[in-house]
Amino acid sequence: MTINHHPDDATIMAQAAGVLGEGFSLVVAAHMERCPRCLERLAEAEALGGELLAELPAAEMAGAGLGDVWQRIHEAPAAEPPKLRRPSSSDGLPAVLTPYLDGGLASVRWRSLVPGIRQHVLHGIDSGRGSVRLLGIAPGITIPHHTHGGGEMTLILKGSYVDEIGRFQAGDLADLDPSVHHQPVADTGEDCICLIATDERLRFSGMFSRMLQPLIGI
Ligand SMILES: [Zn+2]
Repeated sequence: MTINHHPDDATIMAQAAGVLGEGFSLVVAAHMERCPRCLERLAEAEALGGELLAELPAAEMAGAGLGDVWQRIHEAPAAEPPKLRRPSSSDGLPAVLTPYLDGGLASVRWRSLVPGIRQHVLHGIDSGRGSVRLLGIAPGITIPHHTHGGGEMTLILKGSYVDEIGRFQAGDLADLDPSVHHQPVADTGEDCICLIATDERLRFSGMFSRMLQPLIGI
């Protein structure tokens, strides 16, 4: 498997520090089950955190920014990221999702939103005003153009899609900040199954899309 899209460095550092939101942290951990590159960078970030804690005077660590993040590693040992494990299911479901979907992807109780788009919301995950959900997109179907009130993190579990940023295949993670405006199109012969975490509601543009908003609720 070739993975071309990864979480950005700030996300990996936040994961190492245990300060990423629970929903985003779950998506990053699911990506890392398949991505040795990011697992290595996580280890580096954790090591860097330890070094900074050892070298910086306490007064500097108390300031804003990176020092503050690393200080929170020190102060909040309970906020560790999810344990990284190898995928336990053969159908592409990351191991970190098995507590929410113990029957694997095959057991997901999908809800159809519009023809070609189905979703399943994962409950019991703290995501602020956002959510963590699985989205199934049939080949050739387009997710309406939208931007984000907050961040959006999407991990491709099966199939692939194309948007303004590029082509995203199984294992790829799209780490989008609020400025990104995109319109993914599922592009292969099989459904594209994604794990999506947000911390705010998405904002659709265009009248048709705005009419869809209450229905989709993402
Ligand atoms: Zn990666």
